[in-house]
Amino acid sequence: MGKGVRVSERFAEGDLVGVLTTEPLGRPLDYKAPAGGCTAGDLVEVPLGPRRVLGCVWGKGEGNFDIHRVRPVTRVLDAAPLRDEMRTFLQRAADYTLTPLPQMLRLATRAPDLGAGPATRRVLRATGREPARETEARLRVMDALDTFGGAWVTAGELAAEAGVSTAVIKGLVKAGVLAEEDAPRDLPYPRLNPNLPSKDLSDGQAEAAAALAAAVATGDYGTTLLKGVTGSGKTEVYLEAVAECLRQGRQALVLLPEIALTAGFLDRVEARFGAKPAEWHSGVTSTERRRLWRMIGVGEAQLVVGARSALFLPFRELGLIVVDEEHDTSYKQEEGVLYNARDMAVLRASICGAQVVLASATPALETWVNADSGKYRRLDLTARFGAAELPEMRAIDMRAEKLASNRWISETLARQVEARIAAGEQALLFLNRRGYAPVTICRACGHQVGCTECDARMVEHRFLKRLVCHQCGATRPVPEACPACSVEGKMAAVGPGVERLAEEVAERFPGARVSVLSSDLFGTARALKEAIETIAAGGADIIIGTQIVAKGHNFPLLTLVGVIDADLGLQGSDLRAAERTFQLMRQVAGRAGRADKPGVALLQTHQPEHPVIRAILTGNEEDFWRAEAAERRMAGAPPYGRMAGIVLSHPDVAVVFDFAGELARRDGPLRAIGAQIYGPAPAPIARVRGRHRVRLLVKAERGTPFQAALAEWAGQLKLPANLRLAIDIDPQSFL
Ligand code: ADP
Ligand code: ZN
Repeated sequence: MGKGVRVSERFAEGDLVGVLTTEPLGRPLDYKAPAGGCTAGDLVEVPLGPRRVLGCVWGKGEGNFDIHRVRPVTRVLDAAPLRDEMRTFLQRAADYTLTPLPQMLRLATRAPDLGAGPATRRVLRATGREPARETEARLRVMDALDTFGGAWVTAGELAAEAGVSTAVIKGLVKAGVLAEEDAPRDLPYPRLNPNLPSKDLSDGQAEAAAALAAAVATGDYGTTLLKGVTGSGKTEVYLEAVAECLRQGRQALVLLPEIALTAGFLDRVEARFGAKPAEWHSGVTSTERRRLWRMIGVGEAQLVVGARSALFLPFRELGLIVVDEEHDTSYKQEEGVLYNARDMAVLRASICGAQVVLASATPALETWVNADSGKYRRLDLTARFGAAELPEMRAIDMRAEKLASNRWISETLARQVEARIAAGEQALLFLNRRGYAPVTICRACGHQVGCTECDARMVEHRFLKRLVCHQCGATRPVPEACPACSVEGKMAAVGPGVERLAEEVAERFPGARVSVLSSDLFGTARALKEAIETIAAGGADIIIGTQIVAKGHNFPLLTLVGVIDADLGLQGSDLRAAERTFQLMRQVAGRAGRADKPGVALLQTHQPEHPVIRAILTGNEEDFWRAEAAERRMAGAPPYGRMAGIVLSHPDVAVVFDFAGELARRDGPLRAIGAQIYGPAPAPIARVRGRHRVRLLVKAERGTPFQAALAEWAGQLKLPANLRLAIDIDPQSFL
């Protein structure tokens, strides 16, 4: 057994135990241990009022409740207990994010049917026989079966994935194409073999891999920044850390920022270890989720690849967490429990004695600073693997380009695109704006169409033939007449989105095969994955994409990246505007020239002399981070100072402002730690779904009891009915 594993406290029948439930009660409640006793960490069912609810034995009971009214635990569930290490993690994560503990427990028990014991269920498998009569629906079923890749699947799940009725499935069973059988509900995952040969690593890769493996072999906590340019083979390198972890008999977790990236990753794991790992994300069926949750607890899933919530799985013996593309903003959960998976990974690892690998070509400034100060180890991969070279980066000065109105592709860029198509290569046009046009304006009165429920302009989506609010998702048809002045036929689209850019591309490059990649254009993760595979196989000449194309995809034929508006992210006063633009531009440029042909990235900009644009072009990354870090230090901003964003919302604007004002006045607990409070001010998006939003910002120095002060401060006032208050520690978004 590894470090940090202690023997949990044992309770005999009738002993008082504190049980934490997932109900919003704030603290553990007293119960009596059931017949046979129980152990701290056991998952149990307890009576709560007239109901029975899920809970976890948290420790000794408090004994401050009338002993005659204390009821016994109904039963101990047949599931692996939450270990001491896991409970400590949940407690510390709750304290850090100022989240009530029951909500943390809910995150950690998000699998169906935890109460049900092992049982069997009817599952399907392909017999290998071809359907005699091939209908479209049947083909879809066979396709869907493929995507489950041999995982157990029920008729219901298969029908849902294929989008057919269960009658189609039954038909296939009758025809002998599918066979039904009884399977135990939760099967262990196939064993991964860490001793299969790895790829031949370059010297630089081998050195980094050996350093990571050595760190894992210590069995202690440590965090390493694996900084490698795009295409340097970071994945190959950290898979060697995974291999060492598996050899130690411990479990590994790899977090990816985007579900669409998992398919490619699963294949690489299979190539390296001989079998696919377990998957945990929103696209996984609930049967598989339950299986994974249970297998993780007994150590029968060695490697999990997942989204940020996989951090809350009850690993039996976690030895390594890899956070791939660690700078990615999707690691910050912005709803419900507000947490940053990267930071929580470090917290969890430090508690259970595991290693963390943060992999990125463009690390978050926080991570760079931690590596710079020696808190994290740092390993660098400075060259692309094999013959691939880093793309050359240049600016196109848009002040010198003549563009017709409603055109966004400069002559210079267009000529480059033509040259690539002629050479049988691919070009990517990057524009980080979904939809057709960001603004719909009335040419008669100047009115801009906004959402009725939100303080946001509605974005035209021509594929949907509707206007869409990107805040609340409300849609409506594009009006014929202006909603303000009623003049007809004057509504006009202003500015470009990817759909509009696609129109320009179609006119400009007739005959070119165009693929638009934007998160809203794909109903399912699978459809997006297919589009990405088609592109990688050469099925498109021009790719138009939003930021989803910037994330880790490999398009071997892609040799040109054209950024339509490199200035877009630099507008606005966001603390991280420079950092984000730098990361996004370098990442998207990194898609070019990943195979043997060199790539070029061209940035259309109106301010080529802007320091951030210059840093992007020259690639003097260390200079850029050093300058950014110096600025943050001067401003006392993160990571040099602490910050919390407070968002209050209510349907009545007066109620929310009054309350926020009162809270700001009662700043004693904050002043006591030298913290400052800014606001209240209307949030940049001042209304969402009919709720008015007000922000406060609290800043403090490092090393102060920040969370405790915030909790005391916010706890002074009772919330008016229907008022929501969210405290966001280390905020990423200021909207
Ligand atoms: P990164 O994550 O750093 O962008 P990847 O790990 O995705 O890089 O590697 C980029 C490409 O190079 C992938 O197709 C990968 O399979 C290939 N590659 C990297 N290292 C090796 C190696 N040692 N042997 C063979 N192929 C490699
Ligand atoms: Zn809206």
